[in-house]
Amino acid sequence: MSFEVYKFGGASVSTADGVRNLIAILNKSTSKDIIIVVSAMGKITNALERVVASYFESKELCVEAIQPVIEYHFSLAEDLFENHATPVFKKLQRLFEELNGFLNRNKSPDYDFVYDQVVSYGELLSTTIVNAYLSENGFASVWHDVREYIKTDATYREGKVNWELTMQNLSTELPKTGIHLMQGFIGSEANGFTTTLGREGSDYTAAIIAYCLNAKAVTIWKDVPGVLSADPRYFDHAVLLRFISYQEAIELAFYGASVIHPKTLQPLQRKEIPLFVRSFNDPDAPGTQVSLGQAIEPEVPCYILKKNQVLLELASLDFSFMAEENIGEIFKLLGIYKMKVDLIQNSAISFSVCVDNKFKNLEVLVAKLRADFKVTVHQNVNLYTLRHATSESIEILELNKEILLKQVAQNTVQLVTL
Ligand code: ADP
Ligand code: ASP
Ligand code: MG
Repeated sequence: MSFEVYKFGGASVSTADGVRNLIAILNKSTSKDIIIVVSAMGKITNALERVVASYFESKELCVEAIQPVIEYHFSLAEDLFENHATPVFKKLQRLFEELNGFLNRNKSPDYDFVYDQVVSYGELLSTTIVNAYLSENGFASVWHDVREYIKTDATYREGKVNWELTMQNLSTELPKTGIHLMQGFIGSEANGFTTTLGREGSDYTAAIIAYCLNAKAVTIWKDVPGVLSADPRYFDHAVLLRFISYQEAIELAFYGASVIHPKTLQPLQRKEIPLFVRSFNDPDAPGTQVSLGQAIEPEVPCYILKKNQVLLELASLDFSFMAEENIGEIFKLLGIYKMKVDLIQNSAISFSVCVDNKFKNLEVLVAKLRADFKVTVHQNVNLYTLRHATSESIEILELNKEILLKQVAQNTVQLVTL
């Protein structure tokens, strides 16, 4: 007997109708043994990020920032549960009391630590509501605190999974059958404090669980028909990719196709666990299947856009060549300041790097770099990646754009534009 893993993201459970829709999806499933991973509802993680930011400003601002989070969950629960004596309301209240308790008692000035302790409530709240709703509607689903299973190091906001411990916990402590519901995105470190796996990490949670339990398959239910040849928010010619390989999916996700979290693919590939990306609104449609060695079908150019990136252009101060020591120094600093490198290009006297300033360390990084290099900074640039490029698709991509940098490797073209 082995589990199927279903993952529902923020967009899928952002409204009461979204939560109701879970029942329709579960009713269609042929499997009786399912692990359901749910992330925070709608844009709640962003709202909780604002709670953290205001916590470091003033108590009043923090109290104000929590208010919309409280209202959102209670109003959604009121819509789902007619009987206000249902225990779910008490459970939600208890979670908010716990969160307030943390905020009142905490002495740690460590932003990332506080971030994880606070932001994780998004998933605790969403799973509390979803589990109560499933139980009330005939599914004997069991709520689990995923932090008891998924163990990480203490890198807050980007916990590194301790695979051995996690595998041991999941394989020995979780029942082998039935429907089990858990939070995405969160885990805990050795002292029991909550950690998170990085923004949008719930897909990754589904993969971790699937890997540790040798699941039959993972399905991530999305607000799109599957993996498309482009993000429909930014491109109007996106088509559904019915089949792709893990490798293709890794490349797409790595370059910024945000439909799958990039860390999701490797564990699944390792055990050849198929991944399905399917439409939450159209559960009869087949979606995308990701499996080993599968040729992309249909083979079309794929467009990926990463917004708000930073292009750094560096040159030596003394007209010397950009050699190994210089480049080594630059990479050391990029590592220290947690810059995610998207693209690099170098010539004899210059070195350009396009980075994601996820952790807002750009200013201090640039100050350090300026001690040794002439640095030009372009903020808010777009990084376009085109895979399976054809001359026609390159033409379309380049149309009306101010290009700062272009890189071509085999059939992948990357552009950094203003
Ligand atoms: P959730 O958080 O609900 O799991 P996400 O919002 O993180 O889902 O991912 C789905 C979104 O990913 C889509 O709404 C779409 O805008 C975006 N997206 C980016 N690239 C692609 C792509 N290549 N194919 C499909 N969707 C994409
Ligand atoms: N709720 C988390 C986030 O918004 C994790 C996820 O949605 O995957 O980043
Ligand atoms: Mg998401």
